[in-house]
Amino acid sequence: MITNKNSVITTAHFAKSQKRILFLGLLLLSNQDKIRQVALNMIEFFKAESCGQCTPCRVGCEKAVTIMNEKEWDIELLEDLCEVMESSSICGLG
Ligand code: SF4
Repeated sequence: MITNKNSVITTAHFAKSQKRILFLGLLLLSNQDKIRQVALNMIEFFKAESCGQCTPCRVGCEKAVTIMNEKEWDIELLEDLCEVMESSSICGLG
């Protein structure tokens, strides 16, 4: 919810009025969760949800899952992969 001086508007209304699509997500974690496992679960979700239209997303998600299943993550490679996926995928999932 967003407020200004004179009114209270919902984020959905704000997004519509700004001619933008706004997607929100909420991830709840407990102190029992392992952040590495959470990250791996998320990338496995993105791999499953990728429609496969563009190669950076399709192959990148698969590669990220492989890297993140290793005992030690290659952070530099993951960062490079993320940069390529972000800059060359055609929708927000990639
Ligand atoms: S970035 Fe979007 S369009 Fe491209 S493969 Fe992933 S889900 Fe499909």
